[in-house]
Amino acid sequence: MTGKRKITILGGGQAGLQLGCGLLRHGYDVTIVQNRTADDVRSGRVMSSQCMFDSALRNERDVGLDFWGAECPTVDSINFVVPSPERASEKLIAWNGLLERPAQSVDQRMKIPVWMGEFERRGGILEIRDAGIGDLEIHAAASDLTIVAAGKGDIGRLFERDAEKSPFDKPQRALALTYVHGMTPRPDHSAVNFNLIPGVGEYFVFPALTHSGPCEIMVFEGIPGGPMDCWKDVATPSEHLARSKWILDTFLPWEAERCRAVELTDANGILAGAFPPTVRKPIGRLPSGRLVLGLGDAVCLNDPITGQGSNNASKAARITMDAILAHGDRPFDGNFMQATFGAYWNYARFVVGWTNALLQPPPPHVLSLMGSAQAFPALAKRIANGFDNPPDLFPWFAVPEEAERYLQQLAA
Ligand SMILES: Cc1cc2nc3c(=O)[nH]c(=O)nc-3n(C[C@H](O)[C@H](O)[C@H](O)COP(=O)(O)OP(=O)(O)OC[C@H]3O[C@@H](n4cnc5c(N)ncnc54)[C@H](O)[C@@H]3O)c2cc1C
Repeated sequence: MTGKRKITILGGGQAGLQLGCGLLRHGYDVTIVQNRTADDVRSGRVMSSQCMFDSALRNERDVGLDFWGAECPTVDSINFVVPSPERASEKLIAWNGLLERPAQSVDQRMKIPVWMGEFERRGGILEIRDAGIGDLEIHAAASDLTIVAAGKGDIGRLFERDAEKSPFDKPQRALALTYVHGMTPRPDHSAVNFNLIPGVGEYFVFPALTHSGPCEIMVFEGIPGGPMDCWKDVATPSEHLARSKWILDTFLPWEAERCRAVELTDANGILAGAFPPTVRKPIGRLPSGRLVLGLGDAVCLNDPITGQGSNNASKAARITMDAILAHGDRPFDGNFMQATFGAYWNYARFVVGWTNALLQPPPPHVLSLMGSAQAFPALAKRIANGFDNPPDLFPWFAVPEEAERYLQQLAA
């Protein structure tokens, strides 16, 4: 690269800050426009359960943003359970698959403020402002490339919804998060304990790091209208905790048993909400005709059921940084934007396909795979490591004949 190129990123979350900090290392002039100060984020409500698997963590390490690797508890496996529909106290399916390398979850309320400071320390310009289209116009006129990484922020509507890639127009789960201290650890190695309660929803729980030290994050995914879609009348943090424990007492006694002594990490360690998973077209056209590129959740928003959003944001930021570096001094035009998103979509389409499949009642071949993983540890391990690399779940997770062929291979 000859001249110093100017990149503006709207949104300082996982995707925007990882990309911005990475580009600063390569000598770019980077501005991030962010609508919350570091203090707002630090003292605010939890936003995610943000469990990140190894290849996403590696992207953070590669741009020098891993500040908690030694301190944050590791997640060493995926533990999958389906309770018996007849007797909730019994498990119909139960298996554990070890991850090849551990996952970790650092509360974004810790991570984002530190990354904001690091971005400025590296020479980035941080503008605190709730940006609208007018702000985007000003930045786009003065920048070589303008990127929108605003997560679920309304400004993302600038990007047209891609109906072909978005099968749902309504939320598919009622979501809730509960951050707690005092949960009884699992007897052996740590895990994402993933419980699938047919017709009710999913509950997963894993160790993480928050302001007050190691904690566990409980994630509830209730099927709309079902008994786990139960957060609307919850008014206080203690009611939220009580409702979380009620779900476990009612549907998952082995999880309830671990929670006799839990307490909230803090009054802001709770969240409830819902959103429709949505893929958008990656190029936004401003009224002036200037183009901006979408990144992360702004253009590829998944339900958290597979815990992929932060992983996707990290991978999208990585792919976008590599594309910017490889592009040298050439203009960042629509072709560049389309090709960059295309490179990401080659990966993300598997994540979206897998995630959307899990939101629907499992077809017989998926039931057969998930059940057979009890008998075949190699299958359990492969499904577990699919969380780090979802393309490896294809085609056998999606195509019944391929599932059958794979199961026959395992049996032989
Ligand atoms: C309940 C729940 C559980 C989850 N669990 C996991 C999990 O276990 N693993 C996982 O990988 N992912 C998980 N996710 C998803 C993950 O948190 C997100 O996908 C990820 O944070 C997306 O990163 P991003 O940078 O695209 O957006 P964000 O992290 O949302 O960042 C966007 C930033 O843009 C700012 N912004 C928005 N609008 C404007 C504006 N107009 N002007 C200026 N700034 C603006 C926002 O304030 C924010 O700081 C979960 C999400 C939810 C809701």
